[in-house]
Amino acid sequence: MIYESTSDKPKMTEQDYIDKYTKQCVLIRGSQNWHKGTGIKIESHQLKEKISMNGCKSCSSKNVLVTAAQRRVHMFSGDIYWDFELFCKDCSRYAQRSYSENKCIRKIT
Ligand SMILES: [Zn+2]
Repeated sequence: MIYESTSDKPKMTEQDYIDKYTKQCVLIRGSQNWHKGTGIKIESHQLKEKISMNGCKSCSSKNVLVTAAQRRVHMFSGDIYWDFELFCKDCSRYAQRSYSENKCIRKIT
């Protein structure tokens, strides 16, 4: 299931991310391993093969920068989860996209 939203301000990264980070994209290890930074093009992002990244949800522009992204596999179920946020350089809005895999209910035999 994919969830999408848009906002005027970043939701998945810090409000001051432009000043806080010095690189376009860095890996921040924690309980979730987030890739954050000042923003990097989709085609240059480390997770571009593993996350279904697309353009701006508001104006469909491809002139976007990924400001935050994370992907993880659930330890027990093996389900995949990811989130990312991008900033659109054309309409100046942020778009968030999240995915959670819910495999069919497995029968316990
Ligand atoms: Zn846009």
